[in-house]
Amino acid sequence: MIFCRRTPVLLLILALLATGCSPTAQPVSRTTTRLLMGTLVSITTWSLPTNASAWEEQERQGVDAAFREVARIEGVMSSHRADSPLSRLNQAPRGIAHPLLPELADLLRRGLEVTNASGGAFDMGLDPLILLWGFSREPPPQTVPDPQRITAWLEHHAPGGLTLSGTVEQPLLRLANASHGLDLGAIAKGYALDRAVAVLQEQGIHNAIVNAGGNLRTIGAKGDRPWRLGIRHPRQAEGVMAVVEVDRPLTMVTSGDYERFFIHQDQRYHHIFDPRTGYPARSGLISVTVQAEDGTLADALSTALFVLGAEQGLALLRRFPGSEALLMLEDRSLRRSAGFIGQPVAEP
Ligand code: FAD
Ligand code: MG
Repeated sequence: MIFCRRTPVLLLILALLATGCSPTAQPVSRTTTRLLMGTLVSITTWSLPTNASAWEEQERQGVDAAFREVARIEGVMSSHRADSPLSRLNQAPRGIAHPLLPELADLLRRGLEVTNASGGAFDMGLDPLILLWGFSREPPPQTVPDPQRITAWLEHHAPGGLTLSGTVEQPLLRLANASHGLDLGAIAKGYALDRAVAVLQEQGIHNAIVNAGGNLRTIGAKGDRPWRLGIRHPRQAEGVMAVVEVDRPLTMVTSGDYERFFIHQDQRYHHIFDPRTGYPARSGLISVTVQAEDGTLADALSTALFVLGAEQGLALLRRFPGSEALLMLEDRSLRRSAGFIGQPVAEP
């Protein structure tokens, strides 16, 4: 049983997509949804209904292959599975360099670029903190952990606690101490999105949208109409804060304080942590949507911006050309970078 609140987001996006069908081209859309990585992953494809049965079979196989790739990535990178290669690294002794899969090292390397650029706001070494708060357990947490335990974690957790060495073929990872453990919850879904899209394209599917729990990528087109996507309002379960219409491929990832949270003494405690405090980030933002060249970068940046807040977050974005963001602040006002594609619809 998961405790994420993805279903309404997904339905909303699909509903918006459905409104754009062309009366002339009449592309046929098919959506398949599976529960992977603790969230709903859906793939929608569009095709013209010519030589239908052969194409349908090819499409079905392509979509299956993309889902298998997402499942494979989950098997490698999940901190929720005790037997994943990632979890085995977390179980290994600290202070020693251990071999790891080149794929894992490549993703960590990309993530570390965002870690360094964000001054450590994006931190892939937070597994012990997330365990302490209980956000990776069922049932979800309802209360704040003992502050002394957070302080103890903080004393030993420092930027640079996660070090890659070795070669590209035989990489090594060293975790400094028990306050550091891998959690790729803020980047691996974006990576899975990129891989799913790559597999679809390899399989000859060129018009599709992949949505991994609010992280989405479009490829190709849907008939002669642009993509029409909704960004969920963080405080209205069925509401939309912005609509994005685009006639070219788009990657868009949202991080918010509404996906996994609990309320304790009128305070909202959510799953995006500020590594400098050991507490959920309180940067003044409640939702961050990033558009970037790929899902991996967009995922990492959306979390980093959420932790840094509007000013520092938008400054960070400028270090990654081609990346754009739409931010909602606590007072419901919106900030956006100049090139963000989409029209806000939310009232402040
Ligand atoms: P994002 O902002 O993209 O990421 C937030 C997540 O990143 C947090 O949940 C935490 O894991 C981590 N994080 C928090 N603060 C920071 C920070 N400052 N820097 C970097 N990272 C941070 N959930 C389940 O319930 N069951 C599962 O079996 C399960 N399996 C998963 C397998 C994989 C491979 C992945 C990637 C995730 C899995 N999840 C699972 C987690 C789940 O889907 C998360 O809710 C999700 O990854 C958080 O994404 P988000 O888009 O809400 O937020
Ligand atoms: Mg993220």
